[in-house]
Amino acid sequence: METKTDVVVIGGGPAGLSAAAWCSDLGLTAVLIEASERPGGQLHSINNPIANYAGLAAANGREFAAKLLEWEKQFAFRRLVGTRVESISAEPLVVRTAGGEEFRPRAVILATGLSRRRLGLAGEDEFVGKGVLRSGAGQREEAKGKHVVIVGGGDAAIENAVLLSEFAERVTVVHRSREFRARAEFLERAKAAANVEMITETHVSKILGEKRFEGIEASGPEGSRSIVADLLLIRIGFKPNSELLRGLVELDVSGFVQVDVTCATSVPMIFTCGDVANAISPTISTATGMGSTAAKAIAARLS
Ligand SMILES: Cc1cc2nc3c(=O)[nH]c(=O)nc-3n(C[C@H](O)[C@H](O)[C@H](O)COP(=O)(O)OP(=O)(O)OC[C@H]3O[C@@H](n4cnc5c(N)ncnc54)[C@H](O)[C@@H]3O)c2cc1C
Repeated sequence: METKTDVVVIGGGPAGLSAAAWCSDLGLTAVLIEASERPGGQLHSINNPIANYAGLAAANGREFAAKLLEWEKQFAFRRLVGTRVESISAEPLVVRTAGGEEFRPRAVILATGLSRRRLGLAGEDEFVGKGVLRSGAGQREEAKGKHVVIVGGGDAAIENAVLLSEFAERVTVVHRSREFRARAEFLERAKAAANVEMITETHVSKILGEKRFEGIEASGPEGSRSIVADLLLIRIGFKPNSELLRGLVELDVSGFVQVDVTCATSVPMIFTCGDVANAISPTISTATGMGSTAAKAIAARLS
């Protein structure tokens, strides 16, 4: 089946929702395609209060997502949820979904955000809910009296180490580099906690366990060793979801899409907004702002 529309927006996080709403407001026909059944993107994994979005506060990301989804209902655009975009081609612009639907829009806005980096080891996915944690803050009660291994050395890893040290019996942070990237305030608190151990220059080579997580094998300067633990939290950063545009538009070395001030990529009528094109300030306000910028730039070009 082939569908014509002015704009296809890929991704239903803050950037994509803002872009589609603005397209509708500017008189463009738009289809928003979201891979998960539940639009909102990363908002669903924010447990902290959101106090830094101008004029709109929320107790956590889920509450913020609910407000955003209530707001976007007033705009007329087609919403396709639970549908993954599989490919995009240029000249002519064609967007294909995993379900075989094909769109021939006049413009594309890619707003696919970020994904957590993975270790790429067996057990990482299989043991989610069986010792591998999705969230430190959201699952802190599970850490009571347990030994938690946290992999990573940035803010998320060290902030979680501090948080979980208040519940867990023991927290071991395993970091592959010599220096931590986390901000000093988190590092000082982690170092001050008696039950937090920080191991540097060490990488996780294996996740141990048959039916559930039982520990890790870690390789460092002194060789390989097993660390027996109850829970594992992996916080090794994020990567941009830019695979759909790889080979089509310019990306930077880390895979972030390169855009100009109008959110235009290096290929005519392919625009990108939000975290996938923003290595510097991945925030909700930047994402929604870039969404409106892309929609306005497209409306100006199509008028
Ligand atoms: C723990 C945490 C705390 C945070 N706290 C704050 C905060 O306090 N304040 C703040 O401003 N920001 C915060 N952020 C950042 C904020 O959530 C992001 O900047 C924002 O969600 C980016 O929006 P986005 O739409 O660009 O991407 P995302 O939210 O990542 O949404 C991208 C969407 O695209 C979809 N998608 C991906 N690939 C495809 C595909 N092929 N086909 C269809 N759909 C696809 C995904 O399913 C997803 O729904 C936090 C983030 C995290 C993880």
